Amino acid sequence: MVNEVEERRDQAIKEGVSKASKLIWVTFRKEGIHKYPGAPEGVEFLQYPHRHIFHFRVEIDVFHDDRDIEFILFKRELERLYSSIETEGNTGPTLELDYKSCEMIADDLSEYIYEKYPHRSFTITVSEDGENGAVCSYESNNNGVH
Ligand SMILES: [Zn+2]
Repeated sequence: MVNEVEERRDQAIKEGVSKASKLIWVTFRKEGIHKYPGAPEGVEFLQYPHRHIFHFRVEIDVFHDDRDIEFILFKRELERLYSSIETEGNTGPTLELDYKSCEMIADDLSEYIYEKYPHRSFTITVSEDGENGAVCSYESNNNGVH
């Protein structure tokens, strides 16, 4: 009787673990200059080009527990998108930070991730110097199929 209860409990735990949703996250930083030509009263200074270190955090679904997406490779892949075309070994698209809001920067990056990692939901957080920023969530475009 005790064994049966324990077995059922163990089974419930295993099922719970196997159904857990999992995601991985990576961070990286990139220097960029931007401006906000339509800056409202009180923050008029934003209309002039100014520098930030943009902080990125990207979270993305994984479907098993053994490096479905490997952190370091994923981080390098995303960082390369912001390298100039002349950078050795860079054959991918080049994304610009300049003159964009954090939300626009996230949307640009999302287009790449949607194409490269279909069927996964992901969240992109972009901040200006780690102070203020945007969190943008993108739903998988084909839920459950991977
Ligand atoms: Zn700014």
